[in-house]
Amino acid sequence: MTAQSDRSKIRRLPDRGSYDQATIYDILDEALICHVGFVDDAGLPVVIPTIHARVGNVLYLHGSPASRMLRSLRAGRQVSVAATILDGLVLAKSQFHHSMNYRSVVVFGSAREVKDEDEKALAFQAIVEHLVPGRSEGSRPANDKETKATAVAAIDIEEASAKQRSGPPVDDDADIELPYWAGVIPLTLAPGEPESTGTVSPPDHVGEWKSRR
Ligand SMILES: Cc1cc2nc3c(=O)[nH]c(=O)nc-3n(C[C@H](O)[C@H](O)[C@H](O)COP(=O)(O)OP(=O)(O)OC[C@H]3O[C@@H](n4cnc5c(N)ncnc54)[C@H](O)[C@@H]3O)c2cc1C
Repeated sequence: MTAQSDRSKIRRLPDRGSYDQATIYDILDEALICHVGFVDDAGLPVVIPTIHARVGNVLYLHGSPASRMLRSLRAGRQVSVAATILDGLVLAKSQFHHSMNYRSVVVFGSAREVKDEDEKALAFQAIVEHLVPGRSEGSRPANDKETKATAVAAIDIEEASAKQRSGPPVDDDADIELPYWAGVIPLTLAPGEPESTGTVSPPDHVGEWKSRR
């Protein structure tokens, strides 16, 4: 993977880029959603946000068989997937140097429809585990009807890149003494208190997710 062709070559600020597989996988695994870019049946580009899960070098997406995204991916189209984790707002003295701290990944690959029942079950499990580790044991697996009613696409990752920014703003020397506040507002995804539906108490994996984030 990460065969670095021109399409995955990071051009601007390449020092922020990486093709390291572990870095790419970590970002894909931590990001809760991704955005899938593809060309639809009408030949027009579209980007759709969705849930994903990674198993080895494969990204799984799922949804209604009627969805435009799943219909297009079934046809084996080339896709690009972006996943982003926002870590902070970077406020510089100059508006020009305002930025964000982030970890992001861009993936390229071709999609295939998953028809094999075992691979479908693996994808469902991975998607639920990606949401909350431990959840596949804490909920009912899809039955035959639900499995048939759900389309699954696999994207074999052909190339990928990561890009990351961290740290304080970088102002021009001439601006350092300006009387404006500069710094970083850190951002994290912060879960609230679990709100139970029904009478079952939240299991350990729910509490663990809350403290992990
Ligand atoms: C939260 C966030 C906010 C950003 N805000 C801006 C902004 O306001 N303006 C702006 O110009 N840029 C912004 N960027 C950076 C942006 O994602 C691109 O990196 C940037 O546009 C440089 O593109 P390029 O023309 O050099 O490369 P492109 O030709 O667009 O990209 C070439 C290849 O480099 C890789 N690549 C490019 N960007 C990324 C990335 N972010 N993550 C992983 N791989 C990547 C991909 O494989 C891509 O195909 C932001 C990124 C993030 C995550």
